[in-house]
Amino acid sequence: MILVLLGAPGSGKGTQAQRLMKERSLPQLSTGDMLRSAIQKGTDLGLKAKGFMDRGELVPDQVVVGLIAERSQDSDCVNGYILDGFPRTIPQAEALDKMLSERNAAVGRAVLFQVQDEEVVQRIAGRRSCANCGAMYHVDVKPPKKAGVCDQCGSNQIVLRDDDRADVVRKRLEVYRSQTAPLQAYYEKAGILRTIDASQSPDQVFQSLIRALQ
Ligand code: AMP
Repeated sequence: MILVLLGAPGSGKGTQAQRLMKERSLPQLSTGDMLRSAIQKGTDLGLKAKGFMDRGELVPDQVVVGLIAERSQDSDCVNGYILDGFPRTIPQAEALDKMLSERNAAVGRAVLFQVQDEEVVQRIAGRRSCANCGAMYHVDVKPPKKAGVCDQCGSNQIVLRDDDRADVVRKRLEVYRSQTAPLQAYYEKAGILRTIDASQSPDQVFQSLIRALQ
């Protein structure tokens, strides 16, 4: 199944996508992760994307559509994949539908993670990530086992992402409301939208996600 996860930054869709990836053996395609990896490698694409990301704006549609068009052709995507953070605009959703119909495929389900703005701001303020491998932590909910050291790669670069600063988060929420929220109506019209309450505990959200896929 090709699955789209929709939700504001901090709604927990990335965490749930990783869990679902393990349970269903479907790869998680996160445009945010792909862009951050390009930045880390210092590629032209990364240099181009960094300014937009640091300001909390969206990178141009054609850039992310190109990333997904390429990645979704890898062999691990033959049985489907989880789109996390893509599409984020109506033109991206339209480009995705067009690309999939050319491959005789379609989005099977879109799941909207619903959560209040105040909770999002609180969650993101405590979010930390490993600058070396991208592993995610939270100061209260999921600290690394040894303070300041990444559980996955052992690096001691556990940092607040540039775009997780409070002023940038406010901008990202504004962008979400104006450019990404209209996707709810887009997928509702297609009859494939399910909405889940993402303010519950991670385990409860995962159960809701599984139910939404049935
Ligand atoms: P994320 O990790 O999904 O919250 O993405 C972090 C940042 O990457 C966003 O604030 C955007 O600047 C950029 N980004 C990620 N996915 C997209 C997308 N589908 N369209 C445009 N920009 C994106």
